[in-house]
Amino acid sequence: MTTRYDVDRAGLAELLADQPRYRVDQVWEGLWAQGREPADLTNVPAAVRERLADALPSALDPVAESVTDDGATVKWLWELADGARVETVLMHYKDRSTVCVSTQAGCAMACSFCATGQAGFERHLSVGEIVEQVVVARRRAASDRDGRRVGNVVFMGMGEPMANYDATWGAVTRLHDDLGIGARHLTISTVGLVPGIRRLAGADLPVNLAVSLHAADDELRDELVPVNRRWPLEDLMVACEEYVEATHRRVSFEWALIAGVNDRPEDARRLAVLARRVRAHVNLIPLNPTPGYEVRGTSAAEVRRFRDQLLDAGVNVTVRDTRGTTIDAACGQLRAGHEATPVDRPRRR
Ligand code: SAH
Repeated sequence: MTTRYDVDRAGLAELLADQPRYRVDQVWEGLWAQGREPADLTNVPAAVRERLADALPSALDPVAESVTDDGATVKWLWELADGARVETVLMHYKDRSTVCVSTQAGCAMACSFCATGQAGFERHLSVGEIVEQVVVARRRAASDRDGRRVGNVVFMGMGEPMANYDATWGAVTRLHDDLGIGARHLTISTVGLVPGIRRLAGADLPVNLAVSLHAADDELRDELVPVNRRWPLEDLMVACEEYVEATHRRVSFEWALIAGVNDRPEDARRLAVLARRVRAHVNLIPLNPTPGYEVRGTSAAEVRRFRDQLLDAGVNVTVRDTRGTTIDAACGQLRAGHEATPVDRPRRR
């Protein structure tokens, strides 16, 4: 299915074949660099605007939007043309805004503590469905924060980007080439699919790699991140080493702190060994509780103790602030809370 941002320049040229040549550039610039709706392209004739709106429908139909953290976090739940639902999150920080995009509806990786993993896999998103999440968030950042630009895009929403590599990479290329977002401002997060990490190491844009580690021994990681049974820690570490060697970029390790499960002193000790091996930056995320996983996140005091133990071991570490937890909108929970929303609303163009 072709949605607005699935079409490439050649496709657009075909659609506008009866128009003067400069029209393609005008429309391309308006839709991509400026992120405007076809109806708002006031520099092109009305008939062309209508044709664009018909031929290039928006991929994202809003089901719910929640604003939290005093306006600093906006989360959207979208319905796609076939009824699949995904989330996008826009986070404003002091000096920049970051958008977190989904790459799949659902996820097949089945990480035990993850709301999306608990729900299972539905389908891959297309390039256009991924890109449009950024376009919409950008538009919002510009209107919310006085023309603020979205500085960073993180592929950390629903889904496993490496399991939908081609569309993910297609989106990366478009964001870079057509939205002007630099490779250093793009981060792909993976559960640890080794072939994907290898491909990324050889790719022509040096984007950031984040690895969802969560456990530093195979026994625990098999349980939390089942894909570890296929690519155990040693294989994953070798792939990370290759990535660092090939790209000279820093890898980051994500670690959702789960009370009594992976926040023990021996966990910090093992994590420090792995992090030092590839000079990874560690991102600690207090667990967002999910209905399908009856374990709590680590308390604030224990998070600090864990962080300090890593610091003492010479590891670069930060604690990520959790956003949206007060309204059940963290990590896939917006969708989980809207299962019963009626779907017979008119589709937005
Ligand atoms: N599939 C990719 C990207 C999506 S998840 C990946 O696993 O990296 C983005 C991050 O959120 C991952 O680090 C994931 O482990 C983490 N995450 C998932 N559920 C969470 C929860 N309930 N609390 C905290 N972090 C969570």
